[in-house]
Amino acid sequence: MLRFAWRWAQVGDRVLVHDREHLERDLMNGVVAAVKRVNHDTSIGIKVDDNGETRWLWPTPLFVHPTPLDQNESCWICDENAAPTPPPTLSPTKEVTV
Ligand SMILES: [Zn+2]
Repeated sequence: MLRFAWRWAQVGDRVLVHDREHLERDLMNGVVAAVKRVNHDTSIGIKVDDNGETRWLWPTPLFVHPTPLDQNESCWICDENAAPTPPPTLSPTKEVTV
């Protein structure tokens, strides 16, 4: 998420979040449910619906996108997930000599 948006995030803001432990998963819909500001640091608690189960995440800005998704914002996690899966490496064919 853009630093500006992160600093000004408010409870109730809708966001899209990467699951830090499962980066290969699709972005999850979340709602900002807690904002802690200590000095110049902002921590944001996000409630996500994970297949019907509510989970709390405390991500860093790198894992959070504003909604609707800004296609101009670069994100290595999204880029990686959008990349086509490389074909499986073929083991070299062994020539059998008799
Ligand atoms: Zn992303």
